[in-house]
Amino acid sequence: MTAGDVALLAWNDYVGITRCRGIPAEQLPARMAHGLGWAVAGQAMTPFSDIAPNPWGPMLEVRQVPIPETGTRVDIWPDAPAFHLYLCDARTPDGADWDCSTRGFLTRALAELHAATGLTLKAAFEHEFLLESDALNPAPAFTVEAMRLIAPLAGDIALALHEAGLEPETVEPEYGVGQYEVTTAPALGVSAGDRAVITREVIREAARRRGMRACFSPKPDPSGVGNGSHVHFSLIDDDGRNVTHDPAHPSGVSAVAQAFIAGVVRHMPALCALVAPSPVSYLRLGPHHWSCGFASFGIQNREAAIRVCPSTDPDPVVQARTFNLEFRPPDPSASPYLVLGALVHAGLAGIRDGLPLPPACEGDPADLTPQQRAQMGIRELPATLTAALDALLADDVAAGWLPPVMLESYLSVKRTEVDVAAAWSSEELCAQYARVY
Ligand code: MG
Repeated sequence: MTAGDVALLAWNDYVGITRCRGIPAEQLPARMAHGLGWAVAGQAMTPFSDIAPNPWGPMLEVRQVPIPETGTRVDIWPDAPAFHLYLCDARTPDGADWDCSTRGFLTRALAELHAATGLTLKAAFEHEFLLESDALNPAPAFTVEAMRLIAPLAGDIALALHEAGLEPETVEPEYGVGQYEVTTAPALGVSAGDRAVITREVIREAARRRGMRACFSPKPDPSGVGNGSHVHFSLIDDDGRNVTHDPAHPSGVSAVAQAFIAGVVRHMPALCALVAPSPVSYLRLGPHHWSCGFASFGIQNREAAIRVCPSTDPDPVVQARTFNLEFRPPDPSASPYLVLGALVHAGLAGIRDGLPLPPACEGDPADLTPQQRAQMGIRELPATLTAALDALLADDVAAGWLPPVMLESYLSVKRTEVDVAAAWSSEELCAQYARVY
């Protein structure tokens, strides 16, 4: 007997978790216009299912309405029905965008960027994760052995991402024991967020089907390597041209992108509350791990929070097209929509204020003296989630990026998460997050 097809109507919440409701696939046509109802108190859930104090109560509902272009159906596993999923937009009963949806946050940020500059963002995430399986032997970092140990799974990931239209570009071994990394081609606007959310779920599914688990916690083990979720991005005009590059400037960065970078550096401490949003994120974020500990900018510098990635192609046309910037603090406990939305807001603030490019940091900013860092305007990133949440509240501009009810409820969820995690040792903290992410 052939198994049925259950389509998942899904959304990514404040804590970066993709939740869903399921419907038999034959119900899809009837559900495309208005989706399914969802009690929004669910948005107040911490990763551990505690419900934080919230403004919504038991009554308020939104519709989770499937977005046709996010429809994903991957049918490559002989032992399971197709992986069938639609991402949703959350709409209030009168059809308006719900002001607390993470996807809506990115959509509105992109609309503001476009209205002010005529530009949009093209972006791709680097997905780092650990594979957990009793059957997986440890292999040295970056080796052929590490890849061939998981050859069937690596093949499934490549095929599944391809079938899903997500344009996989790399499937490779990383530095940590059992750590791998997957990248896809960049996508424009809100699709970049959609692509990141779906890519993670497809990787999880592929691992699950092979009896393994893909763990996307920022720090699965206190003494192990962290999982980052770096974002590569460029600014694109209405003709599809990448306007991030200026070969005449010593940094290689165009004027508009220089101001964008400056905005990101200025708001970096507040940004951490949205892009490194878990207590365990702060076991990852820090100097000497290539995850970055300072609000700095650098050219080809993997200890900088925002890095210029010049193209190595000799052709100037290709150089201009592929020139991009990398935003390194984000980790996979953050919603990709909040990461991109916050990035866009911070960059736009820099453009609006005409900020100058900060001095490029060469080497690890941790190796500079505090005086040298002060001279270069390089600040330390928050050391805890509480410090990051305080930085968000203290930054009037950044706090204003979130509608008031979103700011209030986001802070409530995150402060509840801090309280829940407060009792845990580093080991317990890592173990708890590794189970969920
Ligand atoms: Mg990596």
